Amino acid sequence: MSLTLAIVGRPNVGKSTLFNRLVGKRLALVDDQPGVTRDLREGAARLGDLRFTVIDTAGLEEATDDSLQGRMRRLTERAVDMADICLFMIDARVGVTPTDEVFAEILRKRSAHVILAANKAEGAAADAGLIEAYALGLGEPVRLSAEHGEGLNELYEQLMPIA
Ligand code: GDP
Ligand code: MG
Repeated sequence: MSLTLAIVGRPNVGKSTLFNRLVGKRLALVDDQPGVTRDLREGAARLGDLRFTVIDTAGLEEATDDSLQGRMRRLTERAVDMADICLFMIDARVGVTPTDEVFAEILRKRSAHVILAANKAEGAAADAGLIEAYALGLGEPVRLSAEHGEGLNELYEQLMPIA
């Protein structure tokens, strides 16, 4: 059975950018059920010699009457329950926000394996955010730049022993 990795985190940290990088043109298995396609995207991912299914939690970016916190929690819990591993992404340039703390709490309670990734980490502007990321208590953050394709080796190193 194939391993499933869910990418979770607040809007705009770079989740979809990483999803697209891992999946490339192999976007597949899009569920046609109403609500599912929009909120969770699933694709066949490749990283080095690892093959796995990746889930992108989308749908948080859209404004609705429903509160972001509530949607975030439900969507994240759904993704976490579908996944073997969660990649929790923060924005290294922003550092750890109160919303990130909410995610960390959900993951600590609910997910067996969490990989912490501090994205947008290209350049020195990310150093303070990386130090903050350690304080989340979710292990050593992967220093990632999804946009520039940096840190994928580090991601591989953390993924490989679990996968
Ligand atoms: P999502 O809402 O978490 O899915 O975030 P997106 O993948 O849509 O990215 C949000 C914004 O961050 C976009 O403008 C991306 O181009 C930008 N972004 C994503 N990854 C990086 C990165 O590694 N470095 C920088 N500087 N920007 C990034
Ligand atoms: Mg997205």
